[in-house]
Amino acid sequence: MAASASLCFPAYRNTGGFAGFSGGRRVSTQFTPRGLTVRSDLESNVSDMSVNAPKGLFPPEPEHYRGPKLKVAIIGAGLAGMSTAVELLDQGHEVDIYESRSFIGGKVGSFVDRKGNHIEMGLHVFFGCYNNLFRLMKKVGADKNLLVKEHSHTFVNKGGEIGDVYIISELDFRFPIGAPIHGIRAFLTTNQLKTYDKARNAVALALSPVVRALVDPDGAMNDIRNLDNISFSDWFLSKGGTRMSIQRMWDPVAYALGFIDCDNISARCMLTIFSLFATKTEASLLRMLKGSPDVYLSGPIKKYIMDKGGRFHLRWGCREVLYDRLPDGGVYVSGLAMSKATQKKIVKADAYVAACDVPGIKRLVPRNWREWEFFDNIFKLVGVPVVTVQLRYNGWITELRDLERARQLRQAAGLDNLLYTPDADFSCFADLALTSPEDYYLEGQGSLLQCVLTPGDPYMPLLNDEIIRRVSKQVLSLFPSSQGLDVTWSSVVKIGQSLYREGPGKDPFRPDQKTPVKNFFLAGSYTKQDYIDSMEGATLSGRQASAYICDAGEELTALRKAIAIVEMDRAGCSTYTSDELTLV
Ligand SMILES: Cc1cc2nc3c(=O)[nH]c(=O)nc-3n(C[C@H](O)[C@H](O)[C@H](O)COP(=O)(O)OP(=O)(O)OC[C@H]3O[C@@H](n4cnc5c(N)ncnc54)[C@H](O)[C@@H]3O)c2cc1C
Repeated sequence: MAASASLCFPAYRNTGGFAGFSGGRRVSTQFTPRGLTVRSDLESNVSDMSVNAPKGLFPPEPEHYRGPKLKVAIIGAGLAGMSTAVELLDQGHEVDIYESRSFIGGKVGSFVDRKGNHIEMGLHVFFGCYNNLFRLMKKVGADKNLLVKEHSHTFVNKGGEIGDVYIISELDFRFPIGAPIHGIRAFLTTNQLKTYDKARNAVALALSPVVRALVDPDGAMNDIRNLDNISFSDWFLSKGGTRMSIQRMWDPVAYALGFIDCDNISARCMLTIFSLFATKTEASLLRMLKGSPDVYLSGPIKKYIMDKGGRFHLRWGCREVLYDRLPDGGVYVSGLAMSKATQKKIVKADAYVAACDVPGIKRLVPRNWREWEFFDNIFKLVGVPVVTVQLRYNGWITELRDLERARQLRQAAGLDNLLYTPDADFSCFADLALTSPEDYYLEGQGSLLQCVLTPGDPYMPLLNDEIIRRVSKQVLSLFPSSQGLDVTWSSVVKIGQSLYREGPGKDPFRPDQKTPVKNFFLAGSYTKQDYIDSMEGATLSGRQASAYICDAGEELTALRKAIAIVEMDRAGCSTYTSDELTLV
């Protein structure tokens, strides 16, 4: 396999919206219409989550912090850790971030390999209701780094003939009247379901808390939380939905949201998203980064953090959270045992934030802390395996209309959006050369498919060559028109435990950001927040962690003094000289 070149040019965008009828089936494919500039800012087409939305989803701006300046050590430079850092720096605190990997961003991270390829941890799309993440992106000057896609969710079905565009069907939200009308119309007109299934689908959704969400978002959110202990399939079938709807539409969506199918995902997880789609016109509108996350997302966040005095310590992994007891019996963290290759050090701070993933936090929680139900509950959460594959081709895989265009390498061509499929081992995928052209369109090369394999379990033990062989075979069977095009480069990223498994009954085990240990806090998309495990959830968790730390400013300073006295006593010193307090 030949490696891809590193020259980057913006993609030519395919022209001409297309809509037609075949055998009574309306089809419309989403090629960016000629003459339309692609919108790339966050000024418009964003849901306002501060009104008519559950209160917890988008907290109001924090009050200006006037308490003592704190030194905070954060473990993990994923979105949650960086969101926490930005909030704390904005409030005047001192922040150090320790990341065990050589790159930042965590699950939405990417790095450039020796041959110049951007390797991503996974395919990422941004819903129009990501107010916390958009707020962060605006803060750090990354608000022009997203490309808005057509307001439609596209399904690719197997069984099309060569040159056949009818393998595509859509949930098309493009309608002059917004939520919930655009959603109702999208479901009524989609080809993805037969009329009978659509009718039963409508009944199920009409009997769901989604309807209450239209008038009482907080009440609906409570109802949705109460459906955490039932799977989406059980709930949906009990309300009259059909197995066919699950197979053709909801399984690919569930896989895309949580990497597990409708039989395994909680009704809470799916209905959280449905209620947002029903109440917020833009919630279902997708955006994608212009290019790779390291350049267009984590890069600007890192710069903002460093400009404000924050420090990143890459390849510094936390091995152990050290703790002790005060004379009154209260447990406190006394430091973090860190290591980088053979180097070792102890890091001390006023507050410690573990902004890890699920396996990361399980490794860090001291064994004795599991006596607390709070920490023990974390061990009831597990991460879901997922495999992401990138395939570079010498042509345009999703160009279905014009076989000649699919085989030339002068211009990008094909479907510029996230694509779902019920008919492959990857539930969602996109051609990054079209969707995120800045880093992925390469002159003289074709599609760069990024496919998310769900469930990932069967693929974890396979060798990369075998994974590529299976995935490229399935790409061909989805797009018979791509017969004859070759894979010229590929990569495979396996994450053994990625999102926490949002199965029935798991929500109560998610920990709050504030813990029973006064100077120890958590952040991370798996921690308690009202959104699902996602970039938005990670960002929100960081805001919540920062708010708790600021609220505890005085208490943490008092704890600093108490710890100093205890440690000096143990060291045999008789006098304690108080630290000068710096007020922010
Ligand atoms: C394939 C894939 C596709 C996805 N698609 C989407 C999407 O389309 N839309 C969306 O909103 N979300 C998506 N997500 C989810 C999203 O990426 C995550 O929810 C979010 O990035 C989690 O951020 P986090 O900071 O909570 O955790 P992470 O990103 O996991 O960050 C945790 C960080 O902590 C570090 N760490 C852990 N332990 C230690 C230690 N002991 N010492 C030092 N560092 C440590 C890790 O190395 C990591 O960098 C996707 C995820 C994957 C895997």
